[in-house]
Amino acid sequence: MSPKPTITIIGGGIGGLTLAAGLHLRKIPVQIYEAAQTFKELGLGISLGPAAYRAMSLIHLSIQQIHNSLVTTHADSPGYEEYLQTWFELVWAIGVYEGDVLMNLKALPSGQTALRRADFLNALVELVPADIVHFGKRLSNLVENKNGVVLAFEDWGGGGGLLMRMLLLVVMVFGPGGMYGYRAVLDMGDMVQAVGEKRARVATIYVGKGAYAISYPVMRARLVNIGIYVLSDEVWEYDSWVRPAVKEDIERDTRDMGRYVKGLVERMPDPSQWAIFEHSHFSTYTRSKVAILGDAAHASTPHQGAGAGQAIEDAHVLAELLSDSRVSSVDDVVAAFKAYDDIRRPRSQRVVTSNKPDTSYTPALLSRPVHVALIYGDADYPCNWFDGEAVSLATEYEHSKEFRSAGYTPFVVDGEEYGVTRESDKMMMYFNT
Ligand SMILES: Cc1cc2nc3c(=O)[nH]c(=O)nc-3n(C[C@H](O)[C@H](O)[C@H](O)COP(=O)(O)OP(=O)(O)OC[C@H]3O[C@@H](n4cnc5c(N)ncnc54)[C@H](O)[C@@H]3O)c2cc1C
Repeated sequence: MSPKPTITIIGGGIGGLTLAAGLHLRKIPVQIYEAAQTFKELGLGISLGPAAYRAMSLIHLSIQQIHNSLVTTHADSPGYEEYLQTWFELVWAIGVYEGDVLMNLKALPSGQTALRRADFLNALVELVPADIVHFGKRLSNLVENKNGVVLAFEDWGGGGGLLMRMLLLVVMVFGPGGMYGYRAVLDMGDMVQAVGEKRARVATIYVGKGAYAISYPVMRARLVNIGIYVLSDEVWEYDSWVRPAVKEDIERDTRDMGRYVKGLVERMPDPSQWAIFEHSHFSTYTRSKVAILGDAAHASTPHQGAGAGQAIEDAHVLAELLSDSRVSSVDDVVAAFKAYDDIRRPRSQRVVTSNKPDTSYTPALLSRPVHVALIYGDADYPCNWFDGEAVSLATEYEHSKEFRSAGYTPFVVDGEEYGVTRESDKMMMYFNT
C-alpha cells in the first residue's frame, strides 16, 4: 500500500499542535511550520471546557494526560472542594450588590479546568519528533497547482517555495469584536490582598458597567490569571494583536468597575492590551487541498472561553477522518476535508454567533401586547448568561428603566431554588443556576 499523503500544518498553536500530535501518534505523516521561534508567551491562562477535554482523549490519550498533568481545578485550593463543579461564580462588581454572588455557574462534570497556554504547547510539542516541527517559518503566500500547494515563507531565501500535497492552515483573518482586553497573571498572595481569599481562589467573573473581569487560578493555584474586557467602538489601528498599555489606560477604562477590579488593576504589572476580533462566517472551511481550522476558520470573541476548545474539537474530527483506513490518496484527503467542513462548520459557527448579543427582535416584540421571557441556562452555549444579561439590559422599551433597576429575585418552586429572575412589566429574564 502506498504511504498516506503528508499533511502540512501551518501554525503551531493549540489547534495545529494538537492535530500534529494526534496525526503523528496515529502514524500519519505530518510536518508543521510555526512563525514564532519558541512558545515564549507570558504564561497566560486558558480555560478548557468538558467537550474539549473529551475530544483530547478521543484524539489520543496522551494529549488528555498532558492536560491532566498541567491542569488547575478548585481541588488545588484546599477548603474549596465544594466549588469542584463551578466554572465561574458571577459577582457584582458595582452597585448596591457589589461583592454579592449573582450565580454559581457550573460546567459539569469537571468545573473550572485551567492551564497555562505556553506549558500546554511546550508539552504538546514533546509528543512529536523535533524534525517535523519547523519554528521561525512564517507563511507569506500559497498557490495551488495541479501537483499540490506551493508555500512561500517570509525568510525562505533563494526564491521558489515548498511544494506540499496537502495543507492545513491555522492562520487568521479577523473582524472587530467590539471590545479589547487587558491580561495579566498575579501571584496568589497578591490576589488574596486584592480581592480576599475566596474571590482569589474561586474562578470569578465580575459583572460591571461597560466592562467585565475574570480571574481563575493556574499553576496549582500558585498564580491567578486575570482578564479585563472593555466595550469599545474604537477601531484597532495597531499592527499587532497585543500592544503594551500604560497603567493610566487601564485605570481610565475601569474607573466605574468598583473596588474588586480596582484591587486587581493596582497589582497588574505592565498591562498589555489585547485586540478582540472575530470572524464573520465563511461558507466553507476547505477548498480542494487546503483546509482551515481553529481561529483561522471560526475565531470568536473570548467571552465563553471556547475558542481553543473548538480548535481541539476540529483537531479531533480531522484526526479521525485522516486516519481512517479508507483515506489513502490525495483525493481521499480532499474528501475527508469536505466531511470535516460538513461536521465542524455548523457547531463552530454557532459558538461564534452565540458570543454576540442579538437585541434586534426583542424591542419589536415588546412594542406589542405580549410578554417576553428571556431564559438562559448556566451550561448553555447558544443561550448563555453573558449574552442574556447584556441583551436584557440593552433592550429599550417603555419600561426598560424599571427593568434595569429591578434586582434579581430567587426563583423558588416547592421550597427549592432553581435560578433567579429579574422582571418588570412585560419582560422577564430567568437564569437557571
Ligand atoms: C483574550 C483571550 C482569551 C481567551 N481565552 C480562552 C479560554 O479561556 N479558553 C478557550 O478555549 N479559548 C480562549 N481564547 C481563544 C483561543 O486563544 C483561541 O481560540 C485558540 O488559541 C485558537 O487556536 P488556534 O490554533 O486556531 O490559533 P493560535 O493558538 O492562535 O495559533 C495560531 C498559530 O499560528 C501561528 N501563525 C500565525 N500566522 C502564521 C504564519 N503566517 N505562518 C506560520 N505560522 C503562523 C501563530 O504564531 C500561532 O502559533 C481566548 C482568546 C483571547 C484573545
